[in-house]
Amino acid sequence: MDLKSLIRDIPDFPKPGILFRDITTLLRDADGLRYTVDSLTEKFIAAGLKADYVVGMESRGFIIGAPLAYKLGAGFIPVRKPGKLPSSVHAVEYQLEYGMDRLEVHQDALQPGSPVLIVDDLLATGGTASATAKLVQQIGCQLVGFGFIIELRDLQGRKQLPDSVPVISLVEY
Ligand code: 5GP
Repeated sequence: MDLKSLIRDIPDFPKPGILFRDITTLLRDADGLRYTVDSLTEKFIAAGLKADYVVGMESRGFIIGAPLAYKLGAGFIPVRKPGKLPSSVHAVEYQLEYGMDRLEVHQDALQPGSPVLIVDDLLATGGTASATAKLVQQIGCQLVGFGFIIELRDLQGRKQLPDSVPVISLVEY
């Protein structure tokens, strides 16, 4: 299936000069959504990547991460922006283009040694995914892989991710 034909390009969003890859047009397409979830599942299985948990980042990582966890027979764990999770959290701070941001996960969501997959809709500079990797590695989890629908190759996000951990993406720009 040609997933690119279902992904909409929005120029100058969220600011001038950025070409935003809009996945809402893919998500609303029943065949496209099913193909996306099934393809990521099959690629993880083919690569031998088994996990007890899929970790997805707010907010588009939730949309793809939860059905993927269901298909893989894993649990889903949300990583959220500050102040959203109701119980005690572990946190990681990371650099944005301007300033810092912070991601949080419930302290009791993950245990040391748990095999974990990190999933988001898109890999750009790698800042979000590498911060999430640090978060789960701080807890002592075993990071077994990353999965993305889209990878923006020019931004070299893979270079920010731990060397030995496989990265799977369905569409490259
Ligand atoms: P990074 O941290 O790798 O630079 O950016 C990736 C994060 O920003 C992901 O959480 C992703 O949802 C969001 N993001 C950045 N650019 C885009 C884009 O063009 N389209 C979509 N759908 N998400 C983006």
